[in-house]
Amino acid sequence: MDLKRSRSYQPSVDIEMEGFPLVETKKKDRHLRAGRIQVALLFAFLLTLPLLCILYRGSLSPSQAWLQEFRLRLIKGSEDGSSVTLAASKDRLLGGLLSPDFDTQSCLSRYDVSSYRKASPSSPSSYLLARLRRYESLHKRCGPNTLLYNQSIEQLKTNHSVANMECNYVVWTPFNGLGNRMLTIVSAFLYALLTNRVLLIHVTDDLVDLFCEPFPGTSWVLPSDFILMKDFSNLHLGSPQSYGSMLKNKVISNHVNATTGSLPASVYLHLEHDYQHFDRLFFCENDQLVLEKVNWLVLQSDIYFVPSLFLMPQHKDELEQLFPAKDTVFHHLGRYLFHPTNSIWGMVTRYYNSYLAEAEERIGLQIRIFSRTPISFDGFFDQIVSCFLKENLLPNITLQEQLPSSANMVRSKAVLVTSLYSKYSEKMKSMYYEHPTTTGEVISIYQPTHEEEQHTEQQSHNQKALAEIYLLSLCDVLVTSAWSTFGYVGQSLAGLKPWILLSPQHEKAPSPPCLRAMSMEPCFHTPPNFDCRANKYVDMGDLVRHVRHCEDVYGGVKLVD
Ligand code: GDP
Repeated sequence: MDLKRSRSYQPSVDIEMEGFPLVETKKKDRHLRAGRIQVALLFAFLLTLPLLCILYRGSLSPSQAWLQEFRLRLIKGSEDGSSVTLAASKDRLLGGLLSPDFDTQSCLSRYDVSSYRKASPSSPSSYLLARLRRYESLHKRCGPNTLLYNQSIEQLKTNHSVANMECNYVVWTPFNGLGNRMLTIVSAFLYALLTNRVLLIHVTDDLVDLFCEPFPGTSWVLPSDFILMKDFSNLHLGSPQSYGSMLKNKVISNHVNATTGSLPASVYLHLEHDYQHFDRLFFCENDQLVLEKVNWLVLQSDIYFVPSLFLMPQHKDELEQLFPAKDTVFHHLGRYLFHPTNSIWGMVTRYYNSYLAEAEERIGLQIRIFSRTPISFDGFFDQIVSCFLKENLLPNITLQEQLPSSANMVRSKAVLVTSLYSKYSEKMKSMYYEHPTTTGEVISIYQPTHEEEQHTEQQSHNQKALAEIYLLSLCDVLVTSAWSTFGYVGQSLAGLKPWILLSPQHEKAPSPPCLRAMSMEPCFHTPPNFDCRANKYVDMGDLVRHVRHCEDVYGGVKLVD
């Protein structure tokens, strides 16, 4: 049994300092000794911490980063097996990503998730931490119902943008399924961070009570009396208030000398998969110079447009500092922004503790069927099994009855299946119930729900979806479905490169059945292919080393490190 991951495991030593449970030993003596040395080193380090802070003129970020690095070194130092990740996984502030200024009880998942999830494979940069703290203070100054917010609303009513407003906004509105929504919230947040805007979220009834507030002392929820809200249900390709339409109809100009006074106070950004040439000019430098003068941007999107932000020359340097490891954007920002509410976290932890905690390895299998790439049930089931066998993720079954011996009953694997349908997990369960495995391993199959149909308009349906995305993110290994944003979110939060079940071809399983992802980042399915500086169409997956073609979507691009 993997003691690190079991909630019933009581460590013999558990020292907690400033909210960081820093050292936790295992049963064995050598680990206890290692733990004591670590504690001594840690106290010595903490004693010198005030001095370090003074040297850094009171700036917290570098010392936080040092503390994090030091802590990771301690963890590495004790690295001789399975005790390693426990201290790391108990890093409640996720390497400084999270502000410590929240009330714990109102959102248990925020600081508790680290004791369930694997530690991040990559620490956030100290620059990212500093920018997040700066963003939080901007959000606090400009958030709903502040003086500055009220001033911006008055400006919005005049329908003209003015220069030098202290607070400018991106208003995110939901479109498509939960995975798509989470991808676009992260994209919108990164855009807000890069352009010094404040992100506000239109929380529709189906999104109520899904996520906790991510920024301390303020709210990211767009107030319900926001004057443009009545138009939100009517935003689509070609809406007159969209940037693309305004450019096309020459209502506004993207010439460098366009003046702020001639610009409306708000513009709608249509960044959905069906967006057209004029909407896509959003990604051009000149257009950004225009948009930066518009006080309110309303965004509706279902695409993960982060890779294109990396291709915008004006953001290149800052993005390099924010994300020295390029494939960690969703991983860090997703872990920073998304904290399931207590009711959803209850579902996650109850399920995890009941079915997954005791297994030595947790494998998440995310099954998503798209009608545009049909395949028979048996065809897809065989594809899944051949992926597992080919990649040695699960053992094969044998028709010979074997008596279990204590020698070969050593490993147990739990497979968490998430799917709208139950039939795949049922068949897999029968397979491992009716036959022994060739290795003697014990394989358990679990599936929390099978909703049969997508019902994004229903809050309880979305809550279950979020619980399952989170359960996937607690796994050690992932197998996901091509094209699925649901799977992308699970893998990025987990910090794992999944095996992707490739799309069927001509209703048949492809060969190979699955591919290992190059990075944990989501795929941007429909990137713009217009190079604004060169004024010509190009392949965005061919321009720079860190933006490559996706494994699962022809024409899509993703960040790799
Ligand atoms: P995508 O369509 O696969 O890219 O993912 P989305 O999350 O954007 O949309 C699919 C939606 O269908 C989800 O948000 C859920 O509402 C539902 N859904 C799909 N697969 C599952 C699943 O495995 N479990 C649950 N509970 N819901 C699912």
